[in-house]
Amino acid sequence: MNYEDVMKLALERGFYFPSCEIYPDAQAGFWEYGPSGVSLKNKFLELWRRELIRRDGMMEIDGSQIMSKSVFDASGHLGNFADPIIKCVKCKSTFRADRTIAEISKIEIPESADLEEFDNAILKNNIKCPKCGGDFENAKKFNMMFKVGIGPEEEPAYLRPETCQSIFVDFPRLFKTMRGKLPLGIAQVGKSFRNEISPRQSLLRLREFYQAEIEVFCNPTKLDQMENFSEIQDTVIRILTSSESVVMTCKEAVETGIIPNKFVAYYLGILTEFYDKTGIDITKSRFRKLGNKEKAFYAQIAFDFEVETTVGWLELVACNYRSDYDLSNHAKKSKEKFEVMDNDEKVLPHVFEISMGIDRSLYTILEHNLYDDKEHERIVLSLKPYLSPIHVGILSLVKKDGLKEKTDEIYLQIKRKYDAFLDHSGAIGRRYRRLDEVGAPFAVTVDHQTLQDGTVTIRKRDSMEQERIKISELDSLIAESTAYP
Ligand SMILES: [Zn+2]
Repeated sequence: MNYEDVMKLALERGFYFPSCEIYPDAQAGFWEYGPSGVSLKNKFLELWRRELIRRDGMMEIDGSQIMSKSVFDASGHLGNFADPIIKCVKCKSTFRADRTIAEISKIEIPESADLEEFDNAILKNNIKCPKCGGDFENAKKFNMMFKVGIGPEEEPAYLRPETCQSIFVDFPRLFKTMRGKLPLGIAQVGKSFRNEISPRQSLLRLREFYQAEIEVFCNPTKLDQMENFSEIQDTVIRILTSSESVVMTCKEAVETGIIPNKFVAYYLGILTEFYDKTGIDITKSRFRKLGNKEKAFYAQIAFDFEVETTVGWLELVACNYRSDYDLSNHAKKSKEKFEVMDNDEKVLPHVFEISMGIDRSLYTILEHNLYDDKEHERIVLSLKPYLSPIHVGILSLVKKDGLKEKTDEIYLQIKRKYDAFLDHSGAIGRRYRRLDEVGAPFAVTVDHQTLQDGTVTIRKRDSMEQERIKISELDSLIAESTAYP
C-alpha cells in the first residue's frame, strides 16, 4: 500500500502523529510516536541489538543530546554542515536550492556543490520562486544545527546533529576502561536534531529524529584480515554503482573490487541480514555507492542502504568510511591522546560508520507489510510476530455468563510477559479486524466452551485459521511464535 495508507494507519491506530497538534504554532518536522509506534520501535531496536551489537560484540553508550561548541568546531559541523538555500527577493520565502532546482527543471545538482552551480542553473533555466514568481537572491549556505544557550549567560552549545560525536569524544576513556581491542564497535541510539528547511512526509524528513549509530574503530592496515568474514561471505547483496547494478554475494563483491575490502563487506553483510529479519522486502534494497560530490564531507567511501517504497528510494542507512577524520580532529582540538595499541602497534584508529535512521526504517517496515486483503474486507499489517506492537488480543465472546471474568483471568496471566490487548466490547469480527490492522499475530477468544473444558479459540492473523487449544498451552505457543529468530 502507499504513503497515504500508511499515514491513515499511523494516525488511527496510534503509530505516530504530529507534535503539538492542538496548537496553531506547531512547527513542521516534529512527530510523536503513540503506543503502537513505541512498541514497534522498541522491538525493532531489540532486533538491532541482537543482530548487530551483540552479534559483533559491540558496546553501547547513551550520551548527551546537548554538546559543547568545541565538539562541533572539531567535527567540522560548524563550518560544513550546511544546506544550500535560495531566498525569494519578493516574498522572502526560503527554499532548498538543490531540491527546488530539481523539482522545477529536473536538473540534479548535489547539495555539496559549489554555490555558483546553483546560481548558474537558476539563471540558465530561468527558475523563479514557486510561490510568487519572484527572482532569487544568490544561493547561500544555511547551517542546520540548533543552537542553544546554556545558563543565564546563554553560553553557546548545540543540539547534536548526529549521535556519533559522543562516541568519538568518549573513545579514549571507553577503550581504556572497557579493555577495548580493535576492531571495536561502539553504538548509540538516540535523538538527533537538524534544522531542516523543508521538513516533509511525516517520518521521512524530520527536524528531531532517532538514529541508531555504530562506529567501528579499526586498524587501517588490517581491513582484509576480517576473522568473521566467512559468516557473511555468501550473503547476497545488491549494489548500485555509477555504471552498473549488480546482485552478488559479499565474497564476490570484494573479489571484483566493488566493495574495497572484507571489513566493509562484513558490515554491509550483517546489516543486510538484519534488515531481512525486519520483514522489509530485501529484494527492493540496494547499497548505492556514492560519487565524490554526493558523499558527506567526512567520508572516504560511502554506501547508502536504500529501500524502494511508493514514495521512491529511501535512504535508511548511511555507511561511511570516515578514516581518521574524527579522531584526529578531536585529538588536535582537545590535545587528548586518541592513539591506541593494536597488539604491539600504536595506531590512530580509522572509523567505519553504520548510521541508521530509525524513523524511516519504521515507515518502510509499515509500508512493506501493510496490505489490503480485499477478499476478506480487511487491512492487514503483516509484521513479523516479534515486531508486532501487540502480540495477542484477548477477547470475550460475550460479557455475560462469567465469560468476562474468565477472559480477565487469562489476560492477567499473560499480560506481564507479552503485549496483550484486552477487549470485551463490539462485534467479534470487528475486533479481529482492528487487531489485524495493528499487526497482532494472534487473537484468543473465550466462549462458553472455555468454562466447560478449559480451551480457547486462537485465531491467526495471516491465515485467519482458528483452532481450539488448552489455556495451559497458550503461553508456550505465544512464546515460540513471537521469539526473535
Ligand atoms: Zn516568492
